Formats: sequence, structure tokens, C-alpha cells
Amino acid sequence: MQNTTADQASLQIAPAKGIFIDNEWRPASSGAAIDVYAPAEGTVFARIAAGNVADIDRAVAAARQAFESGNWGRLTGVERGRLLARLGQLVLDHIDELTLIEARDTSKPMKQARADILACARYFEFYGGAADKFHGETIPFLNGYFVATEREPHGVTGHIIPWNYPAQMFGRSLAPALAMGNATVMKPAEDACLTPLRLCELAAEAGFPEGAINVVPGLGTEAGAALIAHKGVDFLSFTGSPEVGVLVQSEAARNHIGCTLELGGKSPQIVFADVDLDAALPSLVNAIVQNAGQTCSAGARLLVEKGGYDRIVTAVVERFARLRAGTPEMDLDLGALISRRQHERVERFTTRAAADAIPLLAEGGIAEGVPSAGYFVTPKLFGPVPRSNILAREEVFGPVLSVIPFADEADAIVAANGTDFGLIAGVWSQDGKRALRVARKIKGGQVYINAYGAGGGIELPFGGVKKSGHGREKGMAALHDFTTLKTLVVKHD
Ligand code: NAD
Repeated sequence: MQNTTADQASLQIAPAKGIFIDNEWRPASSGAAIDVYAPAEGTVFARIAAGNVADIDRAVAAARQAFESGNWGRLTGVERGRLLARLGQLVLDHIDELTLIEARDTSKPMKQARADILACARYFEFYGGAADKFHGETIPFLNGYFVATEREPHGVTGHIIPWNYPAQMFGRSLAPALAMGNATVMKPAEDACLTPLRLCELAAEAGFPEGAINVVPGLGTEAGAALIAHKGVDFLSFTGSPEVGVLVQSEAARNHIGCTLELGGKSPQIVFADVDLDAALPSLVNAIVQNAGQTCSAGARLLVEKGGYDRIVTAVVERFARLRAGTPEMDLDLGALISRRQHERVERFTTRAAADAIPLLAEGGIAEGVPSAGYFVTPKLFGPVPRSNILAREEVFGPVLSVIPFADEADAIVAANGTDFGLIAGVWSQDGKRALRVARKIKGGQVYINAYGAGGGIELPFGGVKKSGHGREKGMAALHDFTTLKTLVVKHD
């Protein structure tokens, strides 16, 4: 049920709320603010506080206090679970308001923004239910000994999230950490973080004690850098670019703490000639178009068996050409890119493709009437793309799909594993044995057979290998990363 409303007008140049510490908004120490652009409009519509090292210090101190001696650290698993479930319900109660904020802040179609808010709620439901069900074991050992293990929270966990799915990332990163009893400090992305700034208010309303959730908006190079280097943080969770991932891992090493890194990918969809094309086609296209391609698990490489190449590619071309980008309210296939910088990045890739004489097989359109200053690009299908080309190897983070032919099963595996990344993959074939053989040879964290996409799968462990990062989020697996295992050994004889 909706009990709070926000219309477009109330979101016009919203003033910065500040830094969220101990369930209160406090002014940023610097007094500075950052302009927030509505990507579909290309104009400023809100401001966020520019947190800095002093704000991070205060947030970490609040989290430490909550964990060591505040009300948060005293709660049992079942009590924490109830709070998480209550927050999940509050998110659902505010779905219209949150959808509107998320859509305006990121420019994604309303239907996608709504799905993201539902997923955010689901993270709190799922981990609320798990909070009192993740326990240790007893281990048979020598005569005269009793041995048991228990899962302990790290203490203060630091969370840095990107701009592509702010609401989902808030839930994905914080819910498992909180379920296990950690006190958290989040630095959301400066390009889009208005839903996280609303969600932390809802967390206070749900009853989370002071200091359990602290959110410091600000620049990555200031607030983010201060959080990853902070000596008072016991574990780091990062989602974003491989470049910043290296910094996070370096700082974690310097402070002797662990970290999980989710750094994107260049994920393959492997399509054999015997594919059920009608069933596959929506996924083959949607996997690169969802969120305008700004998805870590985007299906950015379409590997197609030569035996079925013409039939399969013709069908993808036909569907691709019909795609349309538009404003959130138009609710089309995709929205604008997040920023001018991201727009320039995607355009650089397509200019380079032209320079490298890669054929442009199909191009979607931009709907009439979108604001001319919005960061829109047309979805583009290129192919055949040589495996050595940048379009076959690097993450574009835009609606650009590369078609790459392969000869047979063995060649498909070589091609699929032929990048520095390893996040997710899809295998499409009606030969179940072959699909399973191929899936098991793929280097990556998730492989789908005759399906694609991690989007809705809160229950499914998710993460990468190689340059895509390490550690697992989602599912019960995330609870491993947000805890440390203690072994208790008792000699009783
Ligand atoms: P980014 O890695 O710079 O930003 C992600 C988060 O890290 C943001 O919250 C940012 O403020 C923070 N950050 C930036 N610099 C930091 C620093 N020095 N120390 C600590 N935190 C820092 O990513 P971006 O520049 O916004 O996007 C660039 C590219 O990264 C994209 O084009 C895409 O290829 C990739 N990316 C991947 C994901 C993903 O989901 N894996 C998300 C966003 C971007």
C-alpha cells in the first residue's frame, strides 16, 4: 500500500539532505554539495552532500559504537531478521515513490525501476528470513574433545555501490551484512544515489537502531577513497569498475581485511544452431538492452554457431532494429545512459568499431520527443566481430552487442572463455547433454542453460572469476563473506 507520494515537481532540484549517521541527517563537514543530473533530461534536478574523510570518520565511529556497545550489537538473529523484514515491507509500501525517484535518477524505464524496487524489498525479505538460520556445526575430533564452529560478524563493513542499480545494490550489499549483525557504512555512487538516501530513512522508520546503517554520499575519490582506506573498517564490499576494484583490494591488503569485488564482465551468450530461436530471441536481445546495457551481467557477446549463423543473426537483426530508447515515462526498451561521461565512453567504442570496419548489422532508434540534452544512444548490433577486437574483449557498459561466430562445441568454449572477465554466461541448445558439457567448462560465476540473467535471482549466488572479481553476493553464499568462522575447541577429559 502506498502511503507516501512524490510527484515530478517535488523532485525538482531537491536540496541535499546531508550525511546519514546514527539515523539522522547531518550536514557534510565540507558544506559542499554535488549536482545530480536527470540523465533523460541532461539537467540538474537534485543535490547530494559531498561527504569527505571527516564524514567517513564519523560514520565509521557511529557504526563501531553500534556494533560494540550500542543497541544493534545486542540484537539476536531473530530480532535482526524482524527488522530486515519490516524494512522489506516498508519498501513495498513506498514502491510508487521509490520507483519514481529511481527512474528519474537513473533514467531507466518505469517498469524496470519498479522491478528494481521489488528486488530491493526482496533482498530484505530473503535475508530477514536467513538471519537466524545461518549457523555453525560440530566437528568429530579426538577423544575427549568437543569442537564447534560459529559464524561471527566482521564488525564494521564498508560498502561501495555503483549507479546502475542503486536500489537493488542497497539491498544486495547491506541486507546480508546486516542479517549477520555487522554495522554498516555505505558510500553510494555520486551519479545516482537518491533511492539509497531515501531507503536509509525507511530503515530508521523500520526500527534499525542508531549506527547500524550509515550512508555517506560523495565523490569516489574523496568519500570512497576515505572509506576503503579507513583503519576502522573490518571488511569491504565493492561493485564497480575493475580499476577501482584494484584500489579497493590494495587498501584491503594494507589493512589486512577481506573484500568482495564485483567488477562487471563481457558475458557470452552461446547459441548453437539447434537453438529454439523463438524461445531464445527475447533473452538474446534483452540481455544487452536492459538498463541500456549498463548491467554488470549484460550479455554483451553473442557467440553464434556457424551452421545456424544466417538464420539466427537475421532474427536478432530484425528484433534489434525495432528497439527504442526513451524517457522513463515512455517506458520503452531502454532509457538514456547515466551521464555525459558514460555517453562519451559508449560513443568512443562505436566510433572505434567504424574505424576498425566492423559491420553495423542493426541499429535501434531513439523515440521522438525525448529531451535533446538527454544522454541517449541507439542500441547497436555489430558483427562479425574478430575475437581480438576491443568490441569482443572490453566492457562497453552500453547497448552494444557483438556477434562472434564459432565453429563447434570446442571452439565455443575457447571463445566464451577468451576474455579477461568471467561473470555469467548463457548456453542455448536443444541438445541437453551438450549444453551441460559446455556450461561446466565455462569460467564464470553463473551459467544459464536455455535462459539468461541474474536480475531477479536474489536466491542465486552471484559473482565472478578473473577480472570480474571474487567473492559471492546473493543467496546464502553472501552470508559466508559477511561473517568469519570461529572454531571452538573444548577438552573435556
Ligand atoms: P567506478 O568504479 O568509478 O564507480 C563505482 C563506485 O566506486 C562509485 O560509488 C564511485 O564513487 C566509487 N569510487 C570511484 N573511485 C573511487 C576510489 N578511488 N575509491 C573508492 N571508491 C571509488 O565506476 P564508474 O566510473 O562509475 O564507471 C566506469 C565503468 O565501470 C563503467 O563504464 C563500467 O564499465 C564499469 N562499472 C561496472 C559496474 C558493475 O556493476 N560491475 C558498475 C558501474 C560501473
